[in-house]
Amino acid sequence: MTVQQDLANLQKLQELDLKTIDIRKELEDIPAHIEDVRQNVETIRIILQKEQKRLEDAEGWKSDKEKEISLQSDLLSKSKGKLQAARNEKENKAAQREIDTIKKNISDQEKELMELMEAIEQYRIAIDEHKKEFAELEEQLKATEDEGKARMDEINATLSETDGGRKSLTQLITPQTLRLYERVQRKLGTAIVQITEPICSGCNFGMLPQKFIELQRGETLISCPQCLRIMVYTGEPIIDNGPIDEE
Ligand SMILES: [Zn+2]
Repeated sequence: MTVQQDLANLQKLQELDLKTIDIRKELEDIPAHIEDVRQNVETIRIILQKEQKRLEDAEGWKSDKEKEISLQSDLLSKSKGKLQAARNEKENKAAQREIDTIKKNISDQEKELMELMEAIEQYRIAIDEHKKEFAELEEQLKATEDEGKARMDEINATLSETDGGRKSLTQLITPQTLRLYERVQRKLGTAIVQITEPICSGCNFGMLPQKFIELQRGETLISCPQCLRIMVYTGEPIIDNGPIDEE
């Protein structure tokens, strides 16, 4: 394989790689995107669990309060009975005091019960909202997964097509040159630079005049000393006066 053939094939390879660089990136990004949506679903799931627990606790307290109020109501009936049965002023006063205390108790408990019921109502509203949001996000996740999978299949199909062409192309390139290309391509995204002046168009490195003449001759493979990109001379063809040192 001559240097000229290598350079021609490397340029074709570069063109092919640039065409697939975006879809390769896209292919890598799809699983991360799906994971993001899955995390959102997970976040809402955790919020919902906490809210359900809070609701259960509040309902437990509510039930306790109701039992307590019912108990106090029984006590109140008994005290009312005592009041009716009071035989003297002293018993009457004692029963009345008992009744007042119990009524105060019941009133306090009822106030707390009301607050609990309001809280429960708020929790239920929040849970309903988050359930709705959860269902929507789950749907979104399902759609994202389906779309992602379809897109990945599509990209993989395209890649296996181009990879076939790529493989046969790489077989036409000197292995050592191909390795250099692959290394620079992976690192910098482009491994071939077209040169018309003695400056690397990849990194602006100024070439030695001697090297530039060598490049123009196209007999040796020239790689930029700074960025390692492989240089291809695309300026005016030069009139070859033979090697400089023969003058
Ligand atoms: Zn360079």
